[in-house]
Parts: sequence; structure tokens; C-alpha cells
Amino acid sequence: MSTSEQKKVLVCGKPELRTGFPSLYCPGCHYGIITRVICEVLEELKLGGKAIGFAGVGCSFGGAPISIGIDWASCPHGRAPAMASAAKRIHPDALVFTLQGDGDLGAIGLGCFLSAVLRNENLTTIFLNNAGYGQTGGQLAPTTLTGMKTTTTQQGRRREDGFPFHGAELAAYHKAVAYSARVTVHTPGNFKKAKRVLTTAFQKQMSGAGYSFVEFISACPSVWGMSPVDSVAYIQEHMLKEFPLGEFKNIDSIYD
Ligand code: SF4
Repeated sequence: MSTSEQKKVLVCGKPELRTGFPSLYCPGCHYGIITRVICEVLEELKLGGKAIGFAGVGCSFGGAPISIGIDWASCPHGRAPAMASAAKRIHPDALVFTLQGDGDLGAIGLGCFLSAVLRNENLTTIFLNNAGYGQTGGQLAPTTLTGMKTTTTQQGRRREDGFPFHGAELAAYHKAVAYSARVTVHTPGNFKKAKRVLTTAFQKQMSGAGYSFVEFISACPSVWGMSPVDSVAYIQEHMLKEFPLGEFKNIDSIYD
């Protein structure tokens, strides 16, 4: 076959839901990859036109609403589950999800999240865990690893500072939650698994099975003070020891 006869085959392109707005994330941040996961899953499920996202405060808020071409609302700090609850009750056929960082969900918004779960809201929460506060300068977060240095724990987090917050396990404990899992996007294989997990989570909501929760372990090279490559190794060697991957709950209906 001559060169002129060779067909070009597109193996990877920009998702249609990814807007043309340039990424606001730091180089090596995994939030951009997670944005892609969300776009691809919404497109494959043909739910882009029915999806409403509720973004919390933090770096998670900074990029997704302008990068993913669906309806969005930005929320007061930690209050995304309350606003999402209202939207889902008004629009029960919509796919409604929150996108929240570890400070937004695990600290100031923990009560709001648990209240939504205890009310049996039919929502999906995407929880972004990068073990620190990115947007505000790298302070200790509920998810910070024991021994990990932050700007407010410069000698490393001590046990006296509390133990890391486990969102996916906490969600799975509650009867109103039909699905809970933890994923990463730090390797191509894990990117594919993350897509499968988020697909399941959205399907649980649309089938009325119950609340669904997906925690993404994510690199924050800027605050961790590492190169993007070293951040990937840090996830593999440290983050996954504290935060194991997998499904913690997967049931057909919370009412069975
Ligand atoms: S500070 Fe961290 S989480 Fe925020 S955009 Fe930069 S790398 Fe990503």
C-alpha cells in the first residue's frame, strides 16, 4: 500500500464534551485526566444532555465546570450535596453528581454529605483525594497520610493530628449507598478501570439503586513538591498502601 493509500485512524481524540477552554491545572495534576474520564463516560452513556454537576470549592471547582460541557452549579464550601439533592428532586430524570475535593467533602462538608446519604438521596459523588489542600497552599487535609509533610505539618503528620479519612469505606458503610469504590488514573490500566467504575456509579443512580460514590486518588505535584513522574511513583508506593483500590459495595438496590 502506498503512503497516499494509507488511511489515518484516529486512536485518541478530544472528547466531544471537553470544551475548548484550556486546562487550568498545574502540569502533572491528575484532575485533567479525571476530567477526561468524566467526559468519556458521559458520552458513552449518552447522558451529557441530562447531566448536572455540582462543584465544591477547591482545585476541583477550578477546572471541571469550564472544561466539561454540561450544566453546572458552583456551590458554597462543602454544600454541593445539599444543592444536588434539590436539583435531583426537581429533575428526577437527570443525572446529578457532585465533584468534591478532600477538604470540601472530608472536612467542612462532611456533615452535608452524610446528611444527603441519610436522607436516601439518589445522587453520585465523585470525591477527589490528593491528600492535601491544593488551592490554598498545601495545608493538612483529612486525607493527608501519616508522616506526610504539609505546610501546616512541616515535620510530617503525626498520629496525634488524626488518621487519614477514608471516604469510600465510610460511604459503603451506609445503607443508602448502593455503590462505593476507589480508583486511580496513574496508569493506563487504572484509567480504564476508573471508567468502568464511574460508568457503574452513574448507572446505579439512573436505575434508582441508591447513592453511588467514587473516590479518585489523584496526584498534586505542586503541593507535594515532586515532579509529575515522582508523583505517580508516590501514589503507587504510598497512597495505595493507605487507600486500597477496589469496590467496597455493589448492590442492585438499597431497598431489597
Ligand atoms: S494545586 Fe494540586 S490539585 Fe490544584 S491544580 Fe495544582 S496539582 Fe492540581
